[in-house]
Amino acid sequence: MLDYDLHCHSTFSDGVLTPAELVIRAAGRGVKMLALTDHDALTGLAEAAQTAEAFGIKLINGVEISVSWRSHTLHIVGLQIDPENEELQAGLLGVRGGRRHRAELMADSLARCGIGGVMEGANRFAANPDIIGRTHFARYLVEAGHCKDIPSVFKRYLVKGKPGYVSHQWANLTDAIRWITQSGGIAVLAHPGRYTAGRKAMGKSTLQELLKEFVLFGGRGIEVVTGSHTIPQYAEFARYATQYGLLSSCGSDFHGPTESYRDLGRLPDLPMECTPIWSQWEAVPV
Ligand code: AMP
Ligand code: MN
Ligand code: MN
Ligand code: MN
Repeated sequence: MLDYDLHCHSTFSDGVLTPAELVIRAAGRGVKMLALTDHDALTGLAEAAQTAEAFGIKLINGVEISVSWRSHTLHIVGLQIDPENEELQAGLLGVRGGRRHRAELMADSLARCGIGGVMEGANRFAANPDIIGRTHFARYLVEAGHCKDIPSVFKRYLVKGKPGYVSHQWANLTDAIRWITQSGGIAVLAHPGRYTAGRKAMGKSTLQELLKEFVLFGGRGIEVVTGSHTIPQYAEFARYATQYGLLSSCGSDFHGPTESYRDLGRLPDLPMECTPIWSQWEAVPV
């Protein structure tokens, strides 16, 4: 059994390890096939590919695109994309474009409730200034002593209805899927269990509508085993995969050694009824 991890982040988005450090850590933990899926950015892939070759693991070119669908923010992972593809690059440039302005609005809004210096603080944590995001704010707010850890910052400040949250228009679902597929990639609905949990969650019938649209627009995969799902959710989303004829993916969504629920690799097997997304890919020599 090969060890696959098809979702993780580097310093080119909101991870804490560089692409090279990430690949070396994955190799050390027995991963044979790793997808780097930075938010809205392809810039870490070259370094990851180089290191993967040196360490004898297979690197899958990936990306995680931020999408607005109805009132929800979704993440669509693209696997096997072509980082040189111009339409994909142009699309991602547009998605990144609004991040700086949103960050300034977030900082203003936190300043209004008495928390100053946040823009400068968050900037220090954003190694790639184009991808400034909520995680960088969270790291700063922990460092400055406003909260004990990152999950508490999100709960108190950075989710819908809280003072540091600023709603934002990301890519359209159709565009994101098209950018991925026309560059040769497979579009995968990331961590669906996150959309159906929490206070502003989508209901089950909305999830069904989303899955119908996703498939209609060319989406082909769904994350079943992810660091964001509970064990019962592995079974739940395996059923959706079967119902909608989707390929199943697995990934840790690793962001850093002290921040993530799951470390790289060693993920539980996909449920038996799933067709793994890699089943149609070239076999990797072990
Ligand atoms: P952004 O794209 O700037 O809205 O940031 C989204 C990122 O924030 C996600 O990819 C996660 O890394 C992180 N995130 C979102 N919600 C939480 C949470 N509740 N706890 C910890 N990290 C979170
Ligand atoms: Mn993230
Ligand atoms: Mn995500
Ligand atoms: Mn992710």
